[in-house]
Amino acid sequence: MFISQEDVPWSKFESNVEKIRDDDESFPTMDAWIVSFTDPKAIKPLQEYLRGRPTLWEQVQHLKLIRRGVSSSEETIFQVVVGVSPYPPNDLPAGYSTPEQCQIPATPSLTRAQLKMKNELWPTVFTPHLLPAEIKFTEAEVKRITEGLQLAVDEAVRARAIGELSIAGCLLPDQYLDSPLVSHDTRVSTGHPLRHTVMNLVRALADKVLMDTRAPLVVVDPDNNLVIADTDKTTSISRGVDTPSPLQNGEGYQLTGRTLFITHEPCLMCTMALVHSRVKEVFYIFPMAQTGGCGSRALVPELPTINHRFNVWRFKQEKLASTLSSVETIVIPENLDA
Ligand SMILES: [Zn+2]
Repeated sequence: MFISQEDVPWSKFESNVEKIRDDDESFPTMDAWIVSFTDPKAIKPLQEYLRGRPTLWEQVQHLKLIRRGVSSSEETIFQVVVGVSPYPPNDLPAGYSTPEQCQIPATPSLTRAQLKMKNELWPTVFTPHLLPAEIKFTEAEVKRITEGLQLAVDEAVRARAIGELSIAGCLLPDQYLDSPLVSHDTRVSTGHPLRHTVMNLVRALADKVLMDTRAPLVVVDPDNNLVIADTDKTTSISRGVDTPSPLQNGEGYQLTGRTLFITHEPCLMCTMALVHSRVKEVFYIFPMAQTGGCGSRALVPELPTINHRFNVWRFKQEKLASTLSSVETIVIPENLDA
């Protein structure tokens, strides 16, 4: 029994993903330089010109290379995109007209309706296989996610009761975590400006899991020996002989494969920490309009230079009261960073 995205109390947050409804009337465009000619033999040198420019070739892969039109004197006209930079190309093969600037679709067509609309501007390739697959949830997943969010809310309520900001997060048990791991913001009690929930949670996870499973922590003792920092049986080893095995690849990324449940949208710093920790996905309850890095100020995991992507799910605000308890007590001012 699956539950569709429309029927769960959270929705996937996507910024630049093109709307895919067939009745959608707008689509992203880009400026391009085109040349026009009537002799079909002039096509081949331009194809070679484009293939010799891999960056440009990559940028026009979603387009049909040639547009065919008819002039006022009923003559067939061919047009080819020869540039997408702000300046016209100055190295075209000889004999072509001066490039003219025009707007072209910036993305391929995912549906037949898009294909028809975009073709009026410039013909694109048709790539229905790029349509995102619909994400469905099982009843057990919905229960688990709701449970993770409620645990975060409960922790935020506790944080508020002891004078902290009511921001908290939770990781649910997995093969290395035998119980849920919760953490809250401690900026008030520590006076430390960076003790946000995510930073505290990543740190708590490192303390709880990594210290149990990875190579022992090695420190230098007062006699200048390397010592394995084990509280029960501290062992001296001579320098350079028994060096501990290094971290296995990926072990340093604490959140690999894990889902973070958090009461408030993480700030830009925390979102970068989540990228660095290789989190699998994030569910948050309250968007932080002025500071959030998971969709409000920026959608950090979708920035082009980011080397790890993760899914962001935002709670549907109209479903709050009917799904989570005590959630109304943990609202914080919008200008705070979570
Ligand atoms: Zn933060």
